Amino acid sequence: ARKFFVGGNFKMNPSTREQKKVLVNTLNSASVDQDVEVVIAPPALYVIPVKETLRGDFKVAAQNCYEKPSGAFTGEISPAQLVDAGIPYVILGHSERRTLFHETSEQVAAKTCAAISAGLSVILCVGETLQEREAEKTKEVVESQLKPVVAALSEADWSKVVIAYEPVWAIGTGKVATSAQAQEAHADIRAYLSTAVSASVAENTRIIYGGSVNAGNCKELGSQKDVDGFLVGGASLKPEFVEIINAKK
Ligand code: 13P
Repeated sequence: ARKFFVGGNFKMNPSTREQKKVLVNTLNSASVDQDVEVVIAPPALYVIPVKETLRGDFKVAAQNCYEKPSGAFTGEISPAQLVDAGIPYVILGHSERRTLFHETSEQVAAKTCAAISAGLSVILCVGETLQEREAEKTKEVVESQLKPVVAALSEADWSKVVIAYEPVWAIGTGKVATSAQAQEAHADIRAYLSTAVSASVAENTRIIYGGSVNAGNCKELGSQKDVDGFLVGGASLKPEFVEIINAKK
């Protein structure tokens, strides 16, 4: 069985260390379902202090890393540095990285491969724009994002991957995918993994949904057969994040 996974992607928030402390304190005092894997992704500057202060049953993720092991890459963080700091996860290929920072699917694949080789687990984000969905290209777009990753990873590497399906039109917009839209996209991803990698990777890989998840919509989304959790942006900064963690309770 796939363990339910709830990630909190803080993005470039909060703006002060004091606010960061408040967020950690809220999480530390929350009563949560122990059958859920909870992973918190603060900005890079806060990754170590959050790891040092966050409750032991929650994990910490970085929001990005570079594909090279070390060297003259100003502003970047290597997978090995994250591993050395005791950070188990990294988010890669977020739509904001792809759009604003021009990361290609090939680069995301190179980062995924480097991260896993260094010992990290990866939350790999994919998803279509509104224009692509309206042109009925969702499946094609998502597969084109996954294809270079499939080419770069061994079958065993997939045990270190969580796929986050995040339709771009649903991110930060309040326009959540319907549970049927999410289920269909997740089932298509699972079918693709089955043909492109293997039946067991398709069965065992968690596919989580991201895009305007909140306390009000998480139960229905989370009840879908192929929805194995969430990647939460805005609501992860609010007390309702605890309700999202407990969506299956
Ligand atoms: P929102 O939950 O704010 O829509 O963001 C989703 C997201 O991008 C998580 O990575």
